[in-house]
Amino acid sequence: MIINGKELAENIRSSLKLEVDNMKKQGITPKLAVIMVGDNKASEVYVRNKSKACNEIGIEFEEFLKDENTSQKELIELIDMLNSRNDIHGILLQSPIPKHLDIREAFNRINPKKDVDGFHPINVGKLSIGEDSFISCTPYGIMKMLEAYHINVEGKRAVVIGRSNIVGKPVAQCLLNQNATVTICHSRTQDIAKVVQEADIVIAALGKPKFVTADMIKEGAVVIDVGINRNEEGKLVGDVDFENVEKKASYITPVPGGVGPMTIAMLMSNVVKAAKEM
Ligand code: NAP
Repeated sequence: MIINGKELAENIRSSLKLEVDNMKKQGITPKLAVIMVGDNKASEVYVRNKSKACNEIGIEFEEFLKDENTSQKELIELIDMLNSRNDIHGILLQSPIPKHLDIREAFNRINPKKDVDGFHPINVGKLSIGEDSFISCTPYGIMKMLEAYHINVEGKRAVVIGRSNIVGKPVAQCLLNQNATVTICHSRTQDIAKVVQEADIVIAALGKPKFVTADMIKEGAVVIDVGINRNEEGKLVGDVDFENVEKKASYITPVPGGVGPMTIAMLMSNVVKAAKEM
């Protein structure tokens, strides 16, 4: 069965719109601030999509564009200013930023209560001890998809391929919090195929087109494809060989139309949560 992330994300956005309408009646309008430093075409597209989603739901959106030569001090001052503004509930620093800047210091400066990306160490730490926190949007979206399709992860063997701070590690933590038995693979893992073959749930988040092939998949496994890659023809493809893996998987997410739309929906959900908790 194909997991329809696009449809699910639309449903989530519709219910968020109702929630925001109600919040506005009580005098609260959720607002997201997005910081972008330097020119990056891909980032521009991502930010445009986020702004569109905000508009649709009724979340206010303010963009802060800084030029390529922005100093670390200026970036930190901007974050401090946004932290202090009561009308702003969520702050997002769009990556990548120019190499001369320290992105970790910048993420760490964002007030954890406005950290709608879930990258602040306080939120990462809370997730790891199972406390309520802002969960990074892609892992959060994956967990919502599993829940919506009634895929119970408890006691299941889950294999996550990729250990980035934004996808691999937090999704592994979310699965562990829901009592899956989790293995994380990365570029130094030996014999990945053998590890993946044992999985009831596979999360492919490594950024290598069609890396996960049908021979690696156990019959009936659930396969979540996080990868966004462009093939030679410029077409979007995931990390999974969808055409062949689909025949063995019980559930599979497509690219596009799977994890991607859920990521934006969960960002919106985090902004609403931030506004409610402020
Ligand atoms: P990343 O920071 O580059 O991390 C990639 C991870 O994959 C690393 O942990 C790396 O291992 C591992 N890896 C790389 N090559 C491997 C190999 N041959 N075998 C096993 N592991 C390997 O990437 P990311 O930010 O997590 O993103 C991963 C993919 O998801 C990308 O395609 C990205 O575009 C996509 N993405 C999609 C969404 C969405 O909303 N759908 C959101 C975020 C990211 P090491 O740690 O050992 O280097």
